Amino acid sequence: MPMITFELQPGREKSLLRRHPWIFSKAIAAVKDSETNELLDKSKVKSGTLCKVVSSTEQFLCYAHYSPSSQIVLRAISFKEEDVIDYNFVKQRLQEAIARRAPLVARNDHGIRLVAAEGDFMPGLVVDKFNNVICAALSSAGMESLYEHIFKALHELNPDCYLYERSDAKSRRKENLPLRAGLIDPRNLSKAYNLKDGQGNALQDSKQITQVQRIGAAEGELIALDEAIPDTLFVLERGLVEIPIDVKKGHKTGGYLDQRQSRYHTYELCQTFKALSEDGKTGPSVLNCFSYTGGFGLLALKGGAKAVYNIDVSENALNAAREGVVHNHLDPGRCKFIKQDVFEYLRREVAKGTKFDIVILDPPKFAESKSNLASACRGYQDINRLGLQLVRPGGRLLTFSCSGLMTEDLFQKIIADAALDAKVEAQIITTLRQDIDHIVALPCPETFYLKGFEILVN
Ligand code: SAH
Repeated sequence: MPMITFELQPGREKSLLRRHPWIFSKAIAAVKDSETNELLDKSKVKSGTLCKVVSSTEQFLCYAHYSPSSQIVLRAISFKEEDVIDYNFVKQRLQEAIARRAPLVARNDHGIRLVAAEGDFMPGLVVDKFNNVICAALSSAGMESLYEHIFKALHELNPDCYLYERSDAKSRRKENLPLRAGLIDPRNLSKAYNLKDGQGNALQDSKQITQVQRIGAAEGELIALDEAIPDTLFVLERGLVEIPIDVKKGHKTGGYLDQRQSRYHTYELCQTFKALSEDGKTGPSVLNCFSYTGGFGLLALKGGAKAVYNIDVSENALNAAREGVVHNHLDPGRCKFIKQDVFEYLRREVAKGTKFDIVILDPPKFAESKSNLASACRGYQDINRLGLQLVRPGGRLLTFSCSGLMTEDLFQKIIADAALDAKVEAQIITTLRQDIDHIVALPCPETFYLKGFEILVN
């Protein structure tokens, strides 16, 4: 039973009653001792503390973790008064999240999102599985306080997997949390920052680990960390190609599982273009902007694309993309890897009058907060105008926004404006979205963050 109770301002319980899990500081009226009802000084409540949240009429609303330095000061973990937030609770949440993904097994994907934060009632926790490596990212003070429970449960539920942590997103600074990454030793969680090396010497930092125990091996049988978790994992997608993922140094948890569905859509689209070509054998030319490790490009090649241009500013990402083509026995002669700013590349190619059959725009998040939404919209309109100008008549633009603040409606308007500016006539063929294991919390529209359109350019 939490010792601290947060009482909300009158009327501020509405979103919680609708089960939206976020509480902003303005909503708070008072902080009290749960037993004595005595008023407390908020500054004395420690970050990550589990608290009870009640309405102005003292109605129970939820249990939530306190994050004093975040805009979202409380994140709800349970709306049931009888719940006890202990190890069993955490394990059950994770077990249920994993069970929700069971229908995906038939797909032949070896990369899967096991826990999608709010979508799985664990705000601030993302867990991805790449082959036999489970990579978790904790981004809130609440999840930080459940650190041991989370990794213990992940280990118990997946004893055949290595556990890796990537709690090193810049957003953790907003929560006043340290940035941390490295292998997790499930037998030594209470000393998570005091891991041992192969000789049993204490390590200060999990990044220093060079040897680990092979899964299932007898105590003391050690192998090199790089053998357990190589720098590049090749992760099967739809039984078609293996995408390069680097859990140690790659973006987020190592790569972007959210675009699996749209990458597969690209594969099918390329097959269709090829089948409809004059000789039935010529696949489309594909411009893959913001390619990262080339996932869209690999599926396009597999689908028969005659040429794929991968554009990214990151040298490492492009090197991995190159490796991916060779690893999948696809034809490197059909690929280009161009290290350049996409805006510059697009402008130059528009000026030259270049055309592609398919243009993909999958930029990073342009809108970080409400205050920069307007400038983000201009950015999206700019690249989409340029992108549309590069599509040959009858071709497609596959365009995405991964900003949680951008609604599908607004994104559609931006593309409509971009088409006007580009002086092209265009139509939406289909909507695209984050893959289904990136579960959307019904009351929390922000969790439907990745949206896209397949646009036909006439
Ligand atoms: N489509 C990828 C994910 C894209 S992530 C996939 O399916 O895996 C966004 C990528 O955009 C990152 O690799 C980042 O390096 C790159 N990037 C960000 N800003 C850029 C810019 N201005 N020009 C080119 N690449 C950029």
